Amino acid sequence: MHKAIIIGTGPAGLTAAIYLARANLNPLVIEGPEPGGQLTTTTEVENFPGFPEGIMGPELMDNMRKQAERFGAQFRTGWVNEVDLSKRPFTLKIEGGEELQSETLIISTGASAKYLGIPNEKESVGRGVSTCATCDGFFFRNKKIIVVGGGDSAMEEANFLTRFASELTLVHRRDELRASKIMQDRAKENPKIKWALNRTPLEVISGENGNVSALKVKNNATGEEELLETDGIFVAIGHTPNTKFLGGQIKTDETGYILVEPGTTKTNVPGVFACGDVQDLHYRQAITAAGSGCMAAMDCEKFLENNMVHDWSKSL
Ligand code: NAP
Repeated sequence: MHKAIIIGTGPAGLTAAIYLARANLNPLVIEGPEPGGQLTTTTEVENFPGFPEGIMGPELMDNMRKQAERFGAQFRTGWVNEVDLSKRPFTLKIEGGEELQSETLIISTGASAKYLGIPNEKESVGRGVSTCATCDGFFFRNKKIIVVGGGDSAMEEANFLTRFASELTLVHRRDELRASKIMQDRAKENPKIKWALNRTPLEVISGENGNVSALKVKNNATGEEELLETDGIFVAIGHTPNTKFLGGQIKTDETGYILVEPGTTKTNVPGVFACGDVQDLHYRQAITAAGSGCMAAMDCEKFLENNMVHDWSKSL
């Protein structure tokens, strides 16, 4: 039995781990399929305070993990399939059947990349379709690349991918971008980026070898279908919060983001806290995730202090 289990190892989960470990609460941190979270799939992080020259995403996450370990946080790898929050202690079922029990839970499972949901897209993952430029960009040296999306992620990925691409086209469904001005300007100043705005993706087209050969789009101005030839399609259209495993036991909004009591990290279940992107539709930054991780640890610590269900002195 654990006093606190943290699910997820992005900036939110690792910050919560640092704080709980320093409070002597020996947290167990469960590391899912993407250790370190989204920052491990990014390149340089320029806006995390304290790093005037920037820091690489994976290095930042590695540092946070080492810091949590230094104070005694335990880590284990596993996919949490199911939780039972109806009675205390809470029970977590890990892939493979193992069960863990904890007095409190911090959910920091983040959000996962969205797909377009068009024909032949999922089938082409690994054959030209990707949601991670830093992971897969290298495979597209001197090849034609399409990036889909109009937000900051799409601008960032497009700029990054011009290092590899022979030709890069940014496809966006409207003629106006959603990205912040600074990110738009950077992309617009990049001479290697061509723009296919006002185009809605319809279908991923594969060649005879099964690899991506084109993206079929609808030109929203003319209503006509067009084939944009390409070797790779990077989908950068945002993320979905990872809350399915909660089986509806924690209140979320209609898109799955966990609802917390304003100004806290408390969910509708006492003793369960949420931090980072899994409860943040709005800011979604590494620094805000880390800040909410700190809040979750402090909320959790206070809860344990006030609701000592289990007499820990007997198990020591
Ligand atoms: P986002 O801001 O939600 O943008 C998603 C983009 O994808 C939008 O342009 C949207 O089009 C498009 N889109 C969504 N669903 C689509 C679909 N089914 N078909 C075609 N297009 C679709 O997501 P994001 O770019 O991942 O950014 C998320 C947050 O992270 C933002 O707050 C952003 O500022 C932040 N971020 C910051 C940085 C940075 O500062 N370095 C880098 C990356 C992300 P519409 O515009 O038409 O809705």
